[in-house]
Amino acid sequence: MTKNPLLSVNQLKTYFYLDRNRVAKAVDDVSFSVSPGETVAIVGESGSGKSITALSIMQLIDKPGKVIDGTIHLQDTEISKLSSKEMTKLRGNEIAMIFQEPMTALNPVFTIGNQITEMLKKHKKMEKKPAQIEAINLLKTVGISRAEEVIHEYPHQLSGGMRQRVMIAMAISCNPKLLIADEPTTALDVTIQAQILDLMVEMKEKFNMALLLITHDLGIVSEYADRIIVMYGGQIVEEAPTKELLRTTEHPYTKGLLESLPNIKEDVDRLGTIRGTVPPAYNLPNGCRFYDRCPFAMEKCEHTNPPLYQLTNNHAVRCHLHEKEGTE
Ligand code: SF4
Repeated sequence: MTKNPLLSVNQLKTYFYLDRNRVAKAVDDVSFSVSPGETVAIVGESGSGKSITALSIMQLIDKPGKVIDGTIHLQDTEISKLSSKEMTKLRGNEIAMIFQEPMTALNPVFTIGNQITEMLKKHKKMEKKPAQIEAINLLKTVGISRAEEVIHEYPHQLSGGMRQRVMIAMAISCNPKLLIADEPTTALDVTIQAQILDLMVEMKEKFNMALLLITHDLGIVSEYADRIIVMYGGQIVEEAPTKELLRTTEHPYTKGLLESLPNIKEDVDRLGTIRGTVPPAYNLPNGCRFYDRCPFAMEKCEHTNPPLYQLTNNHAVRCHLHEKEGTE
C-alpha cells in the first residue's frame, strides 16, 4: 500500500448471487491504493473483475450483486460506509467516473449545455447564467472549439470522441480528487483514442487529480499509467510500476497479454494469443485461476490458489513460480 493514499481499497469482495446454487465471485479479496496525482491502470480481459471493482468503489453495484466484505477509503473517509445520499454527494464532487459509452451517461432529451449547467447548479450551487458561462469554458478546456454551438446540441448530434470530451468536461466540472475511467476509449477509432487519453492526462495534471484507468488494453495504458494492476478471475495477479512491469514481467498471464500486443517491428503473423477464456466467476477453479490457460502450470497449481507474493517493495505477483523469492 502507498503512503498517505488518496484511495485505498482493502480486501474488497463483491459477489453476485445468481441463484440458490451459484455465487459469482466477481471481485475476490482485492486490495490496492492510488496516491494523489497518480495514474493507475487496472488491466484485464472481460470478466476479470476490473469494472466491478470500479463500480464497487462508486457504490454502483446493483442486485443481485453486493459488496460483501472489505473497506474503501477516500483519504480519511470510509466511503464504503456512506449512505446512498452521502455517496451521491461524493460522486461528482470528490470522485467522478466516465464510461465506455457516453450515451449511457448523457441524457438524450436534454442539450449538452443543459446537462452541464444542471450539474454545476446541483453540485456547485451556481446560478443559471454563471453556470452557462462556465459550461462553455469547460467545453473549451476539453478542446471543443465551437463550444458556443455545442451547448445547444443534443448528444446524438456529436461524434463518439466529442461525447467523451463532454463527459470529461462534466467529470472535471466539480474538481474531483479522483477520476475513474472505465474503458473510456474502447468505443472510439484508434486515432481518437490517443487524443482522449492525452486529454485525460492533461486534465489530470491541470486539475491535480488522480486517475484510475480501467481497460483491457495493456498496450494503450503502458504509455499513460504510472503503475499497472493486472486482474484475472476476480483477483490481482500482478502489480508493479509500469516500467518495471514491462521490463520484468513475472506472471504468465501478464506475459501472455504483452505477447498478444502488436509490435510494429515484428511480423503481425507472430502475434501471440492466450489460449482459452477467463473462467466464469460462478465456477472458479479451486487452484490457480489461470491454471487451464497457463503454459507453466505445475501439479500444485491445480489444487492451491497462490497468494500474492511481494517480490520487491512495489512488485507483487500471484504465482507459485515465485514462492521462494517472494514474501506473502
Ligand atoms: Fe501458472 Fe501455476 Fe503460476 Fe498459476 S500458479 S500462473 S498455473 S505457474
